[in-house]
Amino acid sequence: MATMEVCCPNCNTTNVVKYGRQANGAQRYRCQNLDCERTVFLTDYKDRVRLPEIKRQIIEMALSGSGIRDTARTLGVSPGAVIEVFELLANFGASYRGGTASGNRSMMR
Ligand SMILES: [Zn+2]
Repeated sequence: MATMEVCCPNCNTTNVVKYGRQANGAQRYRCQNLDCERTVFLTDYKDRVRLPEIKRQIIEMALSGSGIRDTARTLGVSPGAVIEVFELLANFGASYRGGTASGNRSMMR
């Protein structure tokens, strides 16, 4: 079995152990350094854009007028990923607005 060298993003120790998985299947690791505050972390940077904090930063940068390329470069994600978040937001907004008027409460079944 090949061993991938994993470092804690906080203290850079390689003294880490596997620590289960996220709901989306991403491998989680736990830092064994007792002096380190960052106890559990992920290494799956391909999926950075799925992190709520990254999404929030994408939205904040968009609201402050940053372009897609600037946002992508600053946050270390691909421009396509930024566009994906915008599309998700648009879809969410549409279903949120359309989702309230369809209750058929007069039909008692
Ligand atoms: Zn650490």
